[in-house]
Amino acid sequence: MYIKHVSIRRICNPIKRPYRTAFGSQNAFNSILVSLNSGDYTGWGEASPGGGPFFSSEYDLTEYCVSRDFIVPQLLGKDIPSGEDLQNILAPIRGHRFAKAAFDVAWWDLHSQLQKIPLYRALGSTSNTCHIGYTFGVMDSFDELLAGIEQVTRLGYPRVKLKFCPGWELDMLAAVRSTFPNLTIHIDCNSAYTLSDLAMLKKLDQFQLAMIEQPLQHDDLIDHATLQSKIGTPVCLDESITTPEQAQQAISIKACQYINIKYGRVGGITPALQIHQLCADHGIGCWLGGMGESSLGTTVVASLATLPHINYPSDISPSEKFYVQNLGKPVLTTNQPGTYQLRDNPGLDVVPDPDALHKFTVEKEDFYA
Ligand SMILES: [Mg+2]
Repeated sequence: MYIKHVSIRRICNPIKRPYRTAFGSQNAFNSILVSLNSGDYTGWGEASPGGGPFFSSEYDLTEYCVSRDFIVPQLLGKDIPSGEDLQNILAPIRGHRFAKAAFDVAWWDLHSQLQKIPLYRALGSTSNTCHIGYTFGVMDSFDELLAGIEQVTRLGYPRVKLKFCPGWELDMLAAVRSTFPNLTIHIDCNSAYTLSDLAMLKKLDQFQLAMIEQPLQHDDLIDHATLQSKIGTPVCLDESITTPEQAQQAISIKACQYINIKYGRVGGITPALQIHQLCADHGIGCWLGGMGESSLGTTVVASLATLPHINYPSDISPSEKFYVQNLGKPVLTTNQPGTYQLRDNPGLDVVPDPDALHKFTVEKEDFYA
């Protein structure tokens, strides 16, 4: 398809209350938002690396600059027939996968609109339904956490994920497991540990966790393989998997039994589909994660989460949990907590809410072929 007009924006969307993880505390989610126009149709793509170089070395400002200076000049006025072609054009740009992801998603939105099919069908899914779990960050007390878990399990969420870091670890987990002996639980360490913590990590086996997500260094595969050989609980990689090639290497050295696929972290829908296929080919579990996207991004995550080899409930946070006002419209909602059903309209079928777009845009630039 011919790319006639491109817009790029840097977005700062405030959240209701601070969100605390191993990286610290944040009061807003920062993202970049891209539109690709091809005549009568406009595709939108959001990627949410955050407002600082903490989850990865990329953040909203770096991705905005790379988009403006290097990506837009490569795509504007070009005919781009596939997601693979878009990725090949951008391949000389090293890293900056969040920026690439925003363009890749906008391409898929545009493509599925032109094909007049919903995005999830364009990705190869036959089902419009995905299953989702609920994530709890570090909280003020165990009582607050236990009450939260009680509430979401009663609502119907099939599993919970607990952020896990020094100061919020084995005692917290013991309290949760003793209160909820049969609940499917996994923990996410966001790289808070090293192999010197092996004794503590071995103790996790007693809690019957579904998996331990990213316990070790953010770009490590080898130590994770060592850890996996010494503990019974499955290791899931998140931060360490930024390309399909790294997924292949992780699988080859048995560094993980699951991969949490985040489309922003891996550079878009196109590489996410490749990682999903690698997992399917090698019997590795996979599921989808989010980065605090608005409804524009969570609907992409939900669409990917309908893929046939997704075998664990994904992380797609209900937007009312975070945002005062959602950037995307309509907001991804469900009347059956633990499940999302995607609409059957063509494309992503989510566009920016004009009022939110105006309020939360930090900077913006337009480019015409
Ligand atoms: Mg994670």
